[in-house]
Amino acid sequence: MKNIDIFRESEQYMPGGVNSPVRAFRGVKINPPIIKSGKGVVIKDEEDNEYIDFVLAWGPLILGHCDEDVVEAIKEVSSKALAFGAPTKLELDLAKFMCTSLDNIEMIRMVNSGTEATMSAVKLARGYTNRKRIVKFAGCYHGHFDGFLIEAGSGVITGGIPGSLGVPTESIENTLIGIYNDKEQITELFKKYGNEIAGVIIEPVAGNMGVIKAEDDFMETLRELCDEYGSLLIFDEVMNGFRVAFKGAQSLFKVKPDLVTYAKIMGGGLPCGAYGGRREIMENLAPLGGVYQAGTMSGNPIVMAAGLATLAKLKNNLDYYNHIENIGIKLQEGILQISQKYNLPVVMNRVGGMMTIFFSNLKEVRTYDDVKTCDVERFNRYFEHMLKSGINIPPSQFEALFLSVKHEENHINTFLNAFEKFAASEV
Ligand SMILES: *Cc1c(COP(=O)(O)O)cnc(C)c1O
Repeated sequence: MKNIDIFRESEQYMPGGVNSPVRAFRGVKINPPIIKSGKGVVIKDEEDNEYIDFVLAWGPLILGHCDEDVVEAIKEVSSKALAFGAPTKLELDLAKFMCTSLDNIEMIRMVNSGTEATMSAVKLARGYTNRKRIVKFAGCYHGHFDGFLIEAGSGVITGGIPGSLGVPTESIENTLIGIYNDKEQITELFKKYGNEIAGVIIEPVAGNMGVIKAEDDFMETLRELCDEYGSLLIFDEVMNGFRVAFKGAQSLFKVKPDLVTYAKIMGGGLPCGAYGGRREIMENLAPLGGVYQAGTMSGNPIVMAAGLATLAKLKNNLDYYNHIENIGIKLQEGILQISQKYNLPVVMNRVGGMMTIFFSNLKEVRTYDDVKTCDVERFNRYFEHMLKSGINIPPSQFEALFLSVKHEENHINTFLNAFEKFAASEV
């Protein structure tokens, strides 16, 4: 069957033809290819077209598609353990691995997605502090939990406006919106509401408004405010964890979080998530404490095996991160050189193997407002050109593209050649 025929039929049975909205390519106004296989950095669609992949399942596949060791671990466990709903040794293995390999994680709870991890971490913060309000930053994404689905208007917004139908105002009235990298605004917010704030959740390296790294003094301000007012600082490392460094975004900043959420890479390509932090906080979870959170499939044996195989391989090969950094630099420098040559206004933000090419006239992109200056029409032309050139990138200006350990110089060169043709066509 042709891609388009499969997609049209999918639209009959699944809303928009997809199980997660971005996959429908609505923003870029073209039909998505239907992917059937992947190996290393190459994915293949139903018409046998091949693409070099810079999406990597939206981040998880840092080892590339169908890494031999991960597939082997899945095969081995799946012949004897699909699910029990009982404790298994594999859960201990992954929990212990994460607690001993990462900083500030004394205890951890496994869940099935990033959304579950962040909503549970917030519930735990509320239960632990016995407070209602949470702070999230405009432009940060923490999954589809009602309390996070808030769009930020301009300026200082202190009340929530729903970003989705079906979210009652009551569900978001305790969500306060912070402005990323704005120390004064967050300080004002705490002055007004500090004693009611259970926690602040942040992507330390934002990826869901395009890549923007939080500034050091901004992070220090957050930590100071949380300490002063007794609120918890939650790092949402669902995308950052094992991505920007083996020890995640935590290792890039001086400040320590109270709770951290993980998913994506930690599941090795299977559905997973986790949240962890200080023992004294984590012990408030049932069955030890009064914060109830559960899951029939949480800690599933196959997921644990895939996660452990992935994380252990990363830990045993820390030079992978140097490789990713080096090809990342090559990609970044190449893009900037080409943009200069053709006078194409571009800002490129990159932290390790996650990056965004912003089509913006600004000198730097460091806030959500900066992001909004991007030329989305130009991005859409770029996206279509890249896809036709056999390069798969996220179908939105406001997403990160990812590198894996399997990307090599020749893949970067193919990307740059395609980018140069695009740049030439824009002048
Ligand atoms: C992807 C993502 C989530 C949501 O994870 P799901 O597994 O899609 O539910 C939450 N936070 C961040 C930072 C993410 O990138």
